[in-house]
Amino acid sequence: MKKILGTLFRLILFGGFIVAGIMVVRTLGFTSRQIAIEAISPIDIPKGAADRLAAALTLATISTNSGIDTNAFSLLDTLIIEKYPLVDSMMEKIPVVPISKVYRWPGKNAKLKPILFLAHQDVVPVEENTIDKWTAPAFGGQKADGFIWGRGALDDKTAIISILEASEQLLSEGYVPERTIYFSFGHDEEIGGQNGAKKVADFFARKDIHFEYILDEGLLVLENSLAGLSQPLAMIGVAEKGYLTLRLDARLPEGGHSSMPPANSVIGILSRAIKRLEDDPFPGKIKGATRALFDHIGPEMSPLYRTLFANLWLTEGIINHQLSKDPSSSAIIRTTTAPTIIESGLKDNIMPTQASAQINFRILPGESIASVMARVKAVINDERITITPQEGIGQDEPSSVSGVGTFGFQVIQKSIQQVSPEVLVAPALTVGLTDSRHFRNLTDDIYRFRPYQVSRQDLRTFHGINEKISEANLATSIRFFRQLILNSCL
Ligand SMILES: [Zn+2]
Repeated sequence: MKKILGTLFRLILFGGFIVAGIMVVRTLGFTSRQIAIEAISPIDIPKGAADRLAAALTLATISTNSGIDTNAFSLLDTLIIEKYPLVDSMMEKIPVVPISKVYRWPGKNAKLKPILFLAHQDVVPVEENTIDKWTAPAFGGQKADGFIWGRGALDDKTAIISILEASEQLLSEGYVPERTIYFSFGHDEEIGGQNGAKKVADFFARKDIHFEYILDEGLLVLENSLAGLSQPLAMIGVAEKGYLTLRLDARLPEGGHSSMPPANSVIGILSRAIKRLEDDPFPGKIKGATRALFDHIGPEMSPLYRTLFANLWLTEGIINHQLSKDPSSSAIIRTTTAPTIIESGLKDNIMPTQASAQINFRILPGESIASVMARVKAVINDERITITPQEGIGQDEPSSVSGVGTFGFQVIQKSIQQVSPEVLVAPALTVGLTDSRHFRNLTDDIYRFRPYQVSRQDLRTFHGINEKISEANLATSIRFFRQLILNSCL
């Protein structure tokens, strides 16, 4: 017995040494993926850029499902024509749809594939009950304390202004790009982009115009992004989650009086179905864009975290468990389940015969609308519940994952590092939807990124109260787009 125990102990010890050995080797081989780029000395940004952004923020280019104010959009049009005369006169304006704007900046070399920058002119409305909570008015276009305040500052007018500022400046220097560059500024991104971006994408498809890469909004440069990482993290969205809203219906042939209720009411049946979905979330997976994120940031982290991320073969379970605790990190490793609407009942003393709920799913790349529906059905496992996609709400499959070794990713990374040498660059998963989803058949390489450095606090102002951008971020953004145009034409 003693002998057996001794052998077992030696085996365990030996196994431990092997595991430790693999961990050390993998950690040592887990080297930085940042590229050695010399920072460039900051170029002077055009005088008055902040005022022009402020002017754009005074225009309430709101899009909602009940309509858009075309007047606000035509005022933005006028502003662009007046403030960016070289862009207006030297670029071709393609009238695909009346309000969305498409510009074509012809390049010298027709053999090079064009590139496309997407942004959107529209903004979400300001909730009535939050108007007086803004420090500066939402459509006041005020400049104060180093910030330009207003709805659209982060999402997404600063991008439009930055692209125009960089272009106007380059045009004034006599610059002619090597490859053709397109800009497309949609007008209905916040309500799905069906009449804007979608039609522009259809136009490109009809003309058989395909792109080397496409850049849209999506992720940003985040301060204090993760424990174990001290530098700000520039995340380039290389994939985007899918979108599906399912409707659950529970029906009974008879309702009856609440004084003699049946054992199972429709409300009870439906509630149990929702509870089952919440109790059994989709499995977390460190794959695709999220795996690429950890491969990029892991080598830059403190030794403990570096060892953990270098050895996902062993540590994936622990990391998965940790990431699942916080909604924002849970969303990058799984398809999320969000019950958003529930409806039933007419009167307190009548048993209802039907109850329905809407559950919104954001689908992880690698999964699909069909696989989500199949799993939901299996988890609910109740014949009394019918499960159908909610009518009138669009669905989107998750995107594919764009590469990091591509021309597009490389020039975006280079441009970020030239302008903001202190930041780390990594690919990541975008959990929201962008207009870029309409352009998936026009390129393999879609990236989603804005170069603004923000805190977690700032993220809450997206679609929220006190949306604003610092003048420093505006300057970085203009410099970033200037470098990106130049680098894309080398
Ligand atoms: Zn946006």
